[in-house]
Amino acid sequence: MLRIAVQAKGRLNEQSMELLNEAGVSVNMEKRKFLVRAEGFPAEIIFLRDDDIPQTVAIGAADLGIVGYNEVAEKGLEVSQLQKLGFGGCRLSLAIPKSETYTGLEYFNGKRIATSYPEILRKFFEQNGIDAQIHTITGSVEIAPTAGLADAIFDIVSSGGTLVSNGLVEVEKVVYSEAVLIANPELSEEKMALARQLMSRFEAVRNGQGKKYLLMNVPMTALDDAISLLPAMRSPTVIPLANSDWCSLQTVVDEKNLWNLIESLKEIGAEGILVLSLDKIVL
Ligand code: ATP
Ligand code: MG
Repeated sequence: MLRIAVQAKGRLNEQSMELLNEAGVSVNMEKRKFLVRAEGFPAEIIFLRDDDIPQTVAIGAADLGIVGYNEVAEKGLEVSQLQKLGFGGCRLSLAIPKSETYTGLEYFNGKRIATSYPEILRKFFEQNGIDAQIHTITGSVEIAPTAGLADAIFDIVSSGGTLVSNGLVEVEKVVYSEAVLIANPELSEEKMALARQLMSRFEAVRNGQGKKYLLMNVPMTALDDAISLLPAMRSPTVIPLANSDWCSLQTVVDEKNLWNLIESLKEIGAEGILVLSLDKIVL
C-alpha cells in the first residue's frame, strides 16, 4: 500500500484531494483524521503541513507527496520529482518598496532581505555574485520593509495583489513553482508500479481539463472545410447519417477557443452543434 502525504489545510489541500479523487483514490473527508485509508486504490493519505512533506517523503515515512515545488527546492532533500500537477502555480520573487529605484541585481548588495525561503535565495545570490543579508522570517514577510525589518523581500507571488497593497514592486522573478508529485527515491518495485499507475491517471485527468467534446451535423459539401477548422487527437470522427447529404462530425477541442470555433462552424453550415463535458483522456 502506498502512503501519500497531502497538505492538511491550505492552498493545495482542496485541489490535491480533487485530483486524487478524480484518479480513483477516494477519501472520506468527513471523518477527517491524520491518516485515512483510501477507497478504490491501495493507498492511505497522511495529512501534514506542507513544510513537512518533503522530509516525510525523503525519510520514507510517506512514499509519495503532493507539495509545492518551492518547498521541495527550499528543503533540498533527496526526493524524486515524478510529475508536475498543473495547480498551485506561483513564483518566488524579489520585491522592493515602490519608492525605490531599481538598478538591477546589484541593487541588493548590502541590503537586508526578508524571506521564508533562505536557501533558494542564498543559492540565487551566490550564483549571481550578490552579497546581501538574508533574514529568515516565517509569517508575513511582506510587511517586513514597512516594519523596518528589511529593505526588500523574497516571497511567493501569484497575482501580485499582496505586494501592491504593501507598497512593494516585484523586480526579479527567481523561481516558478507549481504543485508536484514527489516520491521517496528508494521505493520498492511494487510501490513504484502503483506510483506509475497513479501518474498515468493524473495525466489522464489533466489531459481532460479545459477540453470539450464537440458533436455536430455537417453537410457533405462542407465536410472538408469543417475538418480543416477542427483540431483532433488523430483526426475527427465522421459518421454517416440516414440522410446521405449530411454527416456527423465529432472531436475534442480546447475550451479556450470554443466560441470562435462554433461561429466558424456555423458559417460553413454546421448545425445541431453539441458541446459535451469531458472527464478524462487516456492517450
Ligand atoms: P501549511 O499550514 O501547510 O504550512 P502554508 O501557510 O505554508 O501552509 P499555503 O499558503 O497553504 O502554505 O500555500 C501552500 C502552497 O501553495 C505554497 O507553498 C505554494 O506552493 C502554493 N501557492 C500558490 N499560490 C500561492 C500564493 N499566492 N501564496 C502562497 N502560496 C501559494
Ligand atoms: Mg507551510
